[in-house]
Amino acid sequence: MAILVTGGAGYIGSHTAAALLERGEEVVVLDNLQTGHRQAADGCTHFYEGDIRDEALLDRIFGSHEIDAVIHFAANSLVQESMTDPGKYYHNNVYGTLCLLERMRANGVKRIVFSSTAAVYGEPERVPIEETDKTEPANAYGETKLAMERMIRWFDAAHGIQNVSLRYFNAAGAHESGRIGEDHAPETHLVPIVLQAALGKRPHVAIFGDDYPTADGTCIRDYIHVSDLADAHLLAVDRLRRGEGSAVYNLGSGRGYSVREIIEQARRETGRDIPVVVQPRRAGDPAVLVASSERAKRELGWNPRRSDIGTIIRTAWAWHTAHPEGYGDR
Ligand code: UDP
Repeated sequence: MAILVTGGAGYIGSHTAAALLERGEEVVVLDNLQTGHRQAADGCTHFYEGDIRDEALLDRIFGSHEIDAVIHFAANSLVQESMTDPGKYYHNNVYGTLCLLERMRANGVKRIVFSSTAAVYGEPERVPIEETDKTEPANAYGETKLAMERMIRWFDAAHGIQNVSLRYFNAAGAHESGRIGEDHAPETHLVPIVLQAALGKRPHVAIFGDDYPTADGTCIRDYIHVSDLADAHLLAVDRLRRGEGSAVYNLGSGRGYSVREIIEQARRETGRDIPVVVQPRRAGDPAVLVASSERAKRELGWNPRRSDIGTIIRTAWAWHTAHPEGYGDR
């Protein structure tokens, strides 16, 4: 049996495809390369360049491979862009997922692992955040991801499409081989931006606000190694294959680091100077986001073993020093 990975040339998708291949799964990747990189999916023998909204293509893929599960990453994921162009997010994310689910139903594919996000919670009521906490997204991106989660659940109720939604906190780090890593254009995420500054590719890191109600005034986030995230997808597929039913899991390390702590850690790991400039707050940033991942540990047997901040920065730095231009395709 094969697993279809939509968005398998993206950051988390490519690390998950690599983990699937490492355990001997047959992997089929579908990616429109809008934000993904062809090289990131180099190890995958079955690669389709195309869009999840192309229903004829989906039928062709389902007709050509014995697919028993889909891992669905393909989506737009920039918070700020989602606020200025929500239509793009509803079209690609929500309508795209509808197309995928319809073609799964028509082709009798009954398992889906869905790439969701901590952004479904919005401003948290308490930390650490648990899966049962209220979901009230503060931006259009989170709103579309929550709509996708809910749509998938209705397809379960009506058509028996069993699903696991994985709500990621802050993905960071790179594959231990140094072969694949994080390359967004434009880059908006803290860890790659800090390492680009360490490489001298940026003059400084802008700290977005140092007047938050935290110990050093900067925002606290829960950073989780991308390969630990990848592992959780494999465990989620296993759960669905065992027929244990649908579920939602937070994926985080359970430990928060401030923006200043990340920069300090990067200075230690790289031995480089990293200049900072304090700027105004970025709209929509909650002060503290930290996950409780007890449910994933308990029910999936998930063990995030690479998510100490040293390993995250070290693996990300290895990727950045080996690929100063990223994949070099933009
Ligand atoms: N951040 C920052 N400067 C940057 C990028 C990010 O201060 O150049 C902060 C951002 O405000 C947030 C944290 O770093 O508090 C993590 O941001 P990122 O965009 O990496 O992830 P998010 O938490 O928004 O998903």
